[in-house]
Amino acid sequence: MKLVDTHCHLNADAFTNSWSDIVTRANQVGVANFFVVGWDETSSQKAIDLAKKDHRIKAIIGLHPVDIHEGSGLQWILKMYQDNPHQIVAIGEIGLDYHWRKEFHEHERQTQYLIKQINIANQLNLPIVIHCRDAYEAIIPILKANLVKQGGVMHCYAGPANLVPTFIELGFYLSFGGPVTFENAVESRLALKTTPMNRVLIETDSPYLSPHPLRGKENTPINLPIIFKQIAETLQIPSELMEEKLFQNTLEAFHVKTL
Ligand SMILES: [Zn+2]
Repeated sequence: MKLVDTHCHLNADAFTNSWSDIVTRANQVGVANFFVVGWDETSSQKAIDLAKKDHRIKAIIGLHPVDIHEGSGLQWILKMYQDNPHQIVAIGEIGLDYHWRKEFHEHERQTQYLIKQINIANQLNLPIVIHCRDAYEAIIPILKANLVKQGGVMHCYAGPANLVPTFIELGFYLSFGGPVTFENAVESRLALKTTPMNRVLIETDSPYLSPHPLRGKENTPINLPIIFKQIAETLQIPSELMEEKLFQNTLEAFHVKTL
């Protein structure tokens, strides 16, 4: 197998001593590549450092909505890309989080930082990776008013199935992770079935969101095949075809020729 974990945090503190071992073990179960996602300046630099150490890793850099603080800068994103263009495949994770941030002024600030980072992505000709929590209705007008030139990914899509066509129209791929395996995840599987086959991506979001039956435990890319199995089953597509399709989709979503 040559699955790509399009969203994991091997740059998290939890993996400081184990990331290399995890990559080896994940490789043995068919995970060929790992897109490591930053959430602030330090974690983004760490993602790049990992990508430099292991050619199977690519970096995604950006400022997560929960990590925005008064006066947070974004210049570092441009600088990091200038210094490491070959390691970076997207700007992310960026977006809106109304679950952990409830105040109106925080929502306004998140919107400003999202728009700024969309502009940076457009300037660098990169796609974006969106984190969206309890804010699916709110993010649509922002994405409509600030079109992404190179498209993007709705990471760990947890919105309603009826909004899927809107995100597709806006040029997004929908990435599915552990939650799609949860026994009560009816809406999540409906969203997956609503997504055109050529817009589906797969991810673990490690160390978060372990798939069933490992829910609640620390997640790693080694669990990606569990999610893969659920996606293939839900879509009723033979494994080999699903695998090939996901790989192609990954290349297209991130505008890379090979991995
Ligand atoms: Zn994430």
